[in-house]
Amino acid sequence: MKLYPLFAALAGRPVLVVGGGEVAARKTAALRAAGAHVRVGAPKLNAQLARWVAGGELQHLSGSFTEEWLDEVWLVVAATDDGQVNARVAAAAHTRRIWANVVDDAQLSSFHVPAVIDRSPLIVAISSGGAAPMLARWLRERLEILLDHALGPFAALLEKRRGAIRARYRDLGKRRHFYEKLLAGPIWNALRRSDFRGAERELNNTLSTTATRQTGSVVLVGAGPGDPGLLTLRALRALNEADVILHDHLVSAEILDLARRDALRIEVGKQAGHHHVTQREINALLLEHARAGRRVVRLKGGDPFVFGRGGEELQFLRAHGVPYEVVPGITAAIACAAYAGVPLTHRDHAQSVRFVTAHCKESLDTLDWRALAAERQTLAIYMGVAQLPKLRDQLIAHGRTATTPFALIENGTRAEQRVITGTLSELPELQRQHAVQSPALLIVGEVAALASELAWFGEQALSTLAAAA
Ligand code: SAH
Repeated sequence: MKLYPLFAALAGRPVLVVGGGEVAARKTAALRAAGAHVRVGAPKLNAQLARWVAGGELQHLSGSFTEEWLDEVWLVVAATDDGQVNARVAAAAHTRRIWANVVDDAQLSSFHVPAVIDRSPLIVAISSGGAAPMLARWLRERLEILLDHALGPFAALLEKRRGAIRARYRDLGKRRHFYEKLLAGPIWNALRRSDFRGAERELNNTLSTTATRQTGSVVLVGAGPGDPGLLTLRALRALNEADVILHDHLVSAEILDLARRDALRIEVGKQAGHHHVTQREINALLLEHARAGRRVVRLKGGDPFVFGRGGEELQFLRAHGVPYEVVPGITAAIACAAYAGVPLTHRDHAQSVRFVTAHCKESLDTLDWRALAAERQTLAIYMGVAQLPKLRDQLIAHGRTATTPFALIENGTRAEQRVITGTLSELPELQRQHAVQSPALLIVGEVAALASELAWFGEQALSTLAAAA
């Protein structure tokens, strides 16, 4: 984040606008709306500015810019059509440590003015940090439509009743529960009808009926493979309602960013090989937080029931009488296949697909290799990067042809996704050559060859060893 967002309390404070034209008038209007005492410095003022000055609502500093104009002001906006004047204003403000905005010049500005959606007292501000103002404006237009106008009076009502709400619910968790109930209720209808008294009655009703004792629960949520766009709506809601989030190492930062800001986050990452936190410890944490009356989200990569130990955790919760729910996620095999352009089944090539884990040597030894080597099926192999030579040898030894195509997908659905394709016999060599690391998903079967034809995400599927040589 290159810019630190902030909202400035300018009421009653002197600010300076340099320039006397259309743009200066617009900037002045916005600053006045926030209650600032605006001084406008320019040799000549346009009609609007002149009217304000005549009405005693603005101070006019006439002539061309001098440093004294900056005396006592909290911030300055340079809005002249003369680049040199604007630059001088910016430089003088910089020397005096006064925030300066130069219209249409992100470089010279020490503060940016965002695009705004005004539902006062609620304000949404959007900035692209000067990178793409168009995009910020476009987003503003979309949000304008999405954000109910009732939000303004709603926020005002909450401000008015804040003391009573706090007094009733001293505990933050209980207060949150109250707000959620209120937000999900009929208060919106009253607000949209501009029936503010009715809205306040709704609020009071909710205030007197919300149960004070809250029972804890656990939602087992699949976070999908990484791309936040693959979260389900239910997963998003659970993340928004959570008091505590226990997440795996594989869950991406972008997804955690979507969770409630003040939720307690605990990483209980399990990276292959070194377990930070044992399953017993995870279970104990789940129990502790649920028993304290909190809403716990247990967030797992992909789907919680596919190689995710979700079943074990639910058995534990059930044994201890903790209520739970499960939100499925898009599992790595489905997601990686989609983002690599590999249809897992295809009428010409594969009638079935198997999800297999190749976690360690011992788990490999228990696999039914004869069944896995059968033709006309697709294998989606999880946690397999360390076991590729053995995988290849066993599949070929049990009858799968050495020329069977594979696609190895590293960091599937993320910006860093890489797809390596080739044939079974050269699998370990290609993995080594491209230094493929976990998390990676291996797809073996005729369909894997379609990756080079159907790839659409990120950079094109990398060429095979033969082509690269
Ligand atoms: N419950 C998860 C799987 C957990 S096992 C799910 O349903 O997807 C962890 C393995 O999943 C990794 O070793 C890797 O094989 C696979 N995996 C998870 N995310 C992945 C990703 N973004 N790209 C490639 N493979 C991934």
